Amino acid sequence: MRAAVRLEGLTKSHGVGDGAVTALRGVHAVFPEGSFTAIMGPSGSGKSTLLHCAAGLDRAGSGRVVIDGVDISGLDETRLTEMRRKSTGFVFQSFNLLPSLTAEQNVALPLRLAGQHPDRAAVRAALARVGLVDKAGTRPGRLSGGQQQRVAIARALVTRPAVLFADEPTGALDLATGRELLSTLRRLCDAPVDDEHPEPPGTTTIIMVTHDPNVAAYADRVLFLADGLLVGELPRPTADAVAARVTDLTAVADRTGTGAAR
Ligand code: ADP
Ligand code: MG
Repeated sequence: MRAAVRLEGLTKSHGVGDGAVTALRGVHAVFPEGSFTAIMGPSGSGKSTLLHCAAGLDRAGSGRVVIDGVDISGLDETRLTEMRRKSTGFVFQSFNLLPSLTAEQNVALPLRLAGQHPDRAAVRAALARVGLVDKAGTRPGRLSGGQQQRVAIARALVTRPAVLFADEPTGALDLATGRELLSTLRRLCDAPVDDEHPEPPGTTTIIMVTHDPNVAAYADRVLFLADGLLVGELPRPTADAVAARVTDLTAVADRTGTGAAR
């Protein structure tokens, strides 16, 4: 089993001195290539911090982050940026598309930012992976929320990253649209190569933060974070099993005064 991402003893504090907040207290985790992992935990447990550090968007305090075989901890800013552009894609709750650009132009942006001439085939292939080739020429304002988020996913995939990170990707979508989006994500792991568009990747590894058990149930496994530490793992999750575990963890956090209740 090859690891797409490996986290070793990851710590992270926000701020300095008396005002510093410890967000991660030593996180170890391995994300196998082609796996779909959901990260859950109470508000303030460090989910976003974990995702940002794992994706190289933020620097860890100590520990190691290895993405696609490269230890990013020691990279200077230039190399880190290169690594991030080449090997990672990131999707946020807000779609962050540029309204004046068409779907196709939005998807091509990461290639332009990397100084490449946008490869039309790569852009089309990324749109095909999320089922939106027919919307290539459409601007975000004329797309539904779900379609906009799928454009954001295509944009994250266009560089063929080893890992796709998603922080609450369905947070701004209604239930039915959210389900469609999750099916799209699920397919990226299950059927990475599309016969009609064999151009893009091999395997896509997905690491997704969510607070919704129904969303987490689309993943291969769920990792539970509480107060900056991984405290549990659930393989082959069902929404009910995830919800039960969340209730347990919240009860512990309330009793010990850690986590969201603090
Ligand atoms: P989650 O995504 O699980 O809600 P976060 O990773 O956003 O948790 O936050 C973890 C902890 O770090 C919280 O206590 C939060 O208040 C704190 N935190 C997050 N980002 C910052 C920041 N930029 N500055 C100061 N504190 C922060
Ligand atoms: Mg968060």
